[in-house]
Amino acid sequence: MNQYIETEKQFYMGTVRRQPVVIERGQGTRVWDTDGKEYLDFTAGWAVDCLGHSAPVMVEAISKQAATLIQTSNQFYTLPQLQLVEWLVKNSCLDKVFLCNSGAEANEGAIKLARKYGRDNRNGAVEIITAIDSFHGRTTGALAATGNANYQANFLPLMTGFVHVPFGDIDAIKAATNEGTCAVMLEPVQGEGGVISPPDGYLKAVRQWCDEQGILLILDEIQTGVGRLGTMWGYEQFDIEPDVMTIAKAMGGGVPIGAFLCKDACDVLRPGDHGSTYGGNALTCAASYAVLNHVKEEGLVEHGRLMGERLKGKLEEVKARHETTIKEVRGMGLLLAVEFYEPISGELVTSCNAGGLLLNPVRPTAVRFMPPLNISEPEVDIAVDRFERSLEDALQRIEKAK
Ligand SMILES: *Cc1c(COP(=O)(O)O)cnc(C)c1O
Repeated sequence: MNQYIETEKQFYMGTVRRQPVVIERGQGTRVWDTDGKEYLDFTAGWAVDCLGHSAPVMVEAISKQAATLIQTSNQFYTLPQLQLVEWLVKNSCLDKVFLCNSGAEANEGAIKLARKYGRDNRNGAVEIITAIDSFHGRTTGALAATGNANYQANFLPLMTGFVHVPFGDIDAIKAATNEGTCAVMLEPVQGEGGVISPPDGYLKAVRQWCDEQGILLILDEIQTGVGRLGTMWGYEQFDIEPDVMTIAKAMGGGVPIGAFLCKDACDVLRPGDHGSTYGGNALTCAASYAVLNHVKEEGLVEHGRLMGERLKGKLEEVKARHETTIKEVRGMGLLLAVEFYEPISGELVTSCNAGGLLLNPVRPTAVRFMPPLNISEPEVDIAVDRFERSLEDALQRIEKAK
C-alpha cells in the first residue's frame, strides 16, 4: 500500500490526516484494502453510507438513472428531483426543500434564508447564534458559523454576523439574543464536537425562546438526520420542530447531495436569491430517493435504533472491564463515542486498523462509532470484540513505549 500513500503525498494537498489504509472495495459493513485485508467499517464514510457500501438498491438506482438522464440544470423540471422533494416534505415537519451537493452548502443556504427572513421580518436583523464546539462545514460562511477557533484561525477575517455560545446553556442564548438576531443554529447532537447530546429540556427551551422572540430555529441535521439517532430526524428525539433543517451525509447514502428545508412561514427565497448548477441533479436525486425509500420501507430507522442499543450496551460492558481506561460511553442511536481518561485515540485507531475495525478518532480522548443503519447483530458483536482486543493491544504498546 505504501506506493499509494506516496502518490497521495506527492499529488494531494496536505489537508487531511488519513489512516494508512487504501480502501479498494466495499460490500455492506465491510471494506477491503488493496492487500485484500478485510475491515468492519464503523466510520461509514463519516455517517454517510447508511446502507453500507454498494447497497444493491443504490447500485440499481444509480445505474438506471445514469442510463436515463444525469444532469439538466434547474432551468428545467426533472422527475427524480420532484420525487425526492415530495418524499422529504411528506416525511418531515418541513414544507419546502432546496437541493444542493453537500452539508456545508446546505448550511450556506440556510444562513442566506435566515438573513433574508431577518431583513424582511425583523428590521434587517442578520445575526445568527451558534454553539461553541459546533461543526457546520468548511466553506467560509459555514466556517464562520462553526464554533471552533482551530478551524478558523488561518482564514480570518471571517464572515461577520455569528455569535457563539456554550452548547446546552439556554440562558447564554437568551443573553446573546438582541434586536439584530435572526436565528439560532444548532446540531441536535454535536457530532464532530465529540458526540455531545444536549441536556434534558434544552432544545425545547430553545424552541420556546425562538418562538417568543420571532427568530428562526435552524437545526443542522447533516449528521443526525436519516435515522442516525434512532428516529428519522434528530428533532423527533427532543419533541420539537425546527423552522429550518439542513441535511446531507446519509441522505445520499454515499452520493454527494444535501438540502435545506423550511416551513412555509419562512419560505422567503425568491428567483435570483439562490441557485446551484448541480443541486438536485437527476442522478443524485434518484440515488437519494432510493436510499430514503429503502430506509423507510425496510424499517431501518427502528433497526438502527435497536442495533444502537445493542452496541451501546456492549460498549458499556467493555467499559466495565476497563474502568481505569474508559471514562464514558455516550451518544444516541448509532452515533456513539467512547471517551478515555487519556489521549489514546490515535494509538487505539492504529490498533483497530490492524485488528480489522475502522473507527474515527473524533477527539484525542474519544473515538466515534457510526456504522450503517442496516448493520447486523453479529457485525455489532464482532466489532465490539475487535474493539476490545485492539484497546488491549494499544494499551500494551503505550505501556511498552513508556
Ligand atoms: C459533516 C457535517 C457538515 C459538513 O458537511 P460537508 O458535506 O462535509 O460539507 C456540516 N454540519 C454537520 C453537523 C456535519 O456533521
